[in-house]
Amino acid sequence: MGLYPTLNKPATKPLAGIRMEVIMTEQLNPFKIAQQQLDEAAKLLGLDSGTHAMLREPIRELHISIPVRMDNGQVKVFKGFRVQYNDARGPCKGGIRFHPEETIDTVRALGAWMTWKTAVVDIPLGGGKGGIICNPKEMSAGELERLSRGYIRQVGRILGIDKDCPAPDVYTTPQIMAWMMDEFNWINTRFEPGMITGKPVAIGGSLGRNDATARGGIYTVREAAKLLGIDPSKTTYAIQGFGNAGQYAATLMKEVLGSSKLIAASDSRSGIYNENGIDPHQLVKFKLETGKVEGFPGSKTITNEELLELKVDILFPSALENVITAKNAGKIRAKISAELANGPTTPEADEILYKNGVFVIPDFLCNAGGVTVSYFEMVQNSYNHYWELDEVQKKLDAKMTKAFHDVYNMHKNRKVNMRVAAYLVAVQRVAEVMKLRGWV
Ligand code: NAD
Repeated sequence: MGLYPTLNKPATKPLAGIRMEVIMTEQLNPFKIAQQQLDEAAKLLGLDSGTHAMLREPIRELHISIPVRMDNGQVKVFKGFRVQYNDARGPCKGGIRFHPEETIDTVRALGAWMTWKTAVVDIPLGGGKGGIICNPKEMSAGELERLSRGYIRQVGRILGIDKDCPAPDVYTTPQIMAWMMDEFNWINTRFEPGMITGKPVAIGGSLGRNDATARGGIYTVREAAKLLGIDPSKTTYAIQGFGNAGQYAATLMKEVLGSSKLIAASDSRSGIYNENGIDPHQLVKFKLETGKVEGFPGSKTITNEELLELKVDILFPSALENVITAKNAGKIRAKISAELANGPTTPEADEILYKNGVFVIPDFLCNAGGVTVSYFEMVQNSYNHYWELDEVQKKLDAKMTKAFHDVYNMHKNRKVNMRVAAYLVAVQRVAEVMKLRGWV
């Protein structure tokens, strides 16, 4: 036996006298977490074993190597993935993430969550996800373009508006979507803008896509606040992860809910805090100019951990997975945790939050606004006819409000936490279609 307990394996710790206690290390593999969450829902729904087994694993996945000529003349080979998790309800849908710590299991988990997300907002799509192991912060625009086009040359064979449609995710942008669409169209010698979403509006993007994830999340916060008796115009909030989702959440809170107050924000370097309030528009400008939130005038520097534990009405985890774990869940003092990020809370932490009365709006419900407007983008591309912004926002509001109440009613009826309730709603919908299609 080795001397050191390894991650995700039980560790034994000698205690007083002859008593030995097995202390389980918390599971932090996102795919294992996604499977664990599904297992609980499958049990509560009484799913048959075939359906359950189909939903535990992706249907298809492609692993690729992408050679890219770097600016220094050398060829560097990047690893990438595309996971088509489940396409029972329609073509797969899910973003592409560029991240130095990307793993196949993260992509699988994100593909599973996309499957539940499209089902919970009831749009006719399945779930998928893609990723490339790379550090976009250290790459030039030319290198990023060659990498993006290289990804499509490899994965394009399994993409298309009627097969699998990617979108942006962490560290991928509308410009990257434009390069990818262009490459796909050259290969296939036809104009098919709907093969990817989150494009710039000038080439088939939808109005309202940029802020859709945050806006959709805030619609669910509005509904939650009403039910919890919180006056949304008097709330304080903190944003962990000041990127696309987080920045729009910061600026839209006032627009959608009235005069709420941003008191803290963070990015991958550190966080800032000002109890008197931070102007979200000024902070976006500052982040754009300096590349960080730290140093924003009038604010004090705090860590990401301190931000999560602040006494606020609404906490928006908006960065990456596993930031609220068994270690810090007991210290979360927010009334609502609105999960714009995917997978920010572990199952152990979920139980602690539920026990402590923190109302969690789970990730694949809270952040479903992005994929909802992506779906609107696909519809507009298919018709080659584009909607006005207020039409997009009205349709988004209707979808998010309905999805929130479907989940909330399940939470009340089955007396389970909001995440389990969201699973029950979504898994039931996917399972029903698999049965109708004769798969199981
Ligand atoms: P982004 O790349 O625009 O922003 C990510 C932000 O998180 C950056 O500001 C980065 O500095 C920060 N960050 C990274 N590591 C961090 C850490 N350890 N601690 C604190 N901050 C950290 O990405 P995004 O598109 O805003 O995505 C953020 C989350 O939202 C992801 O979980 C993503 O899957 C999810 N999401 C995004 C969308 C969308 O439409 N953009 C849709 C659904 C879900």
